[in-house]
Amino acid sequence: MRILLAEDDTLIADGLSRTLRKAGYALDHVADGASADAALLSQPYDLLILDLGLPRMSGMDVLRRLRGRRCAMPVLILTAQDGLEDRVRGLDAGADDYLTKPFALPELEARVRALTRRGTGMPTRIEFGSLAYDQSERVAKLNGQVVELSARETGLLEVLLLRAGRLVSKEQLVDHLCGWGEEVSNNAIEVYVHRLRKKLEHGGVRIVTVRGLGYSLEKPNGGP
Ligand code: CA
Repeated sequence: MRILLAEDDTLIADGLSRTLRKAGYALDHVADGASADAALLSQPYDLLILDLGLPRMSGMDVLRRLRGRRCAMPVLILTAQDGLEDRVRGLDAGADDYLTKPFALPELEARVRALTRRGTGMPTRIEFGSLAYDQSERVAKLNGQVVELSARETGLLEVLLLRAGRLVSKEQLVDHLCGWGEEVSNNAIEVYVHRLRKKLEHGGVRIVTVRGLGYSLEKPNGGP
């Protein structure tokens, strides 16, 4: 899951970035509206977290331009305490949800989970062979037993599950797992895959390496 955060308040941006990265999201941060607009044009995101009061181009204009391109990416707007009018205008302009500043980080995480799920069309609960994954809780179980996964491993599992039975390239994994400025080498991806594979193999769920191309999540009978 890759998120774009457009927020000019350094304190809020830092807290939010730290929380979401720790939760396993790849996060890119921009501090003005024009940069947000440029980033949105340059690559796809699973979610945009948008402060409405931004320099160089207002959050409202960023949102209007995004929806003008018929882009259905989920958008969570951040508004000031007394910004009732902003909230209404934001929702009218195509935002999916809003949070009023100041907000508690667990609440932000809950909204982000709900919106990214909606955006991918991923059901709350996915079953794949003996593996069950609950996306709202971000908990994986094999034959009913919880599998302890790091945030990175959870992110990796989500990407593989969304394309279960199909090839996922290393580039796609890097895109989903890393924000700008975060270096994750192909070797590191191999390590995460290796660890996740070990944790899933006793349940019969396999991560198959397609040499030189990427990976595919498979269950014993093959196919998703
Ligand atoms: Ca602001």
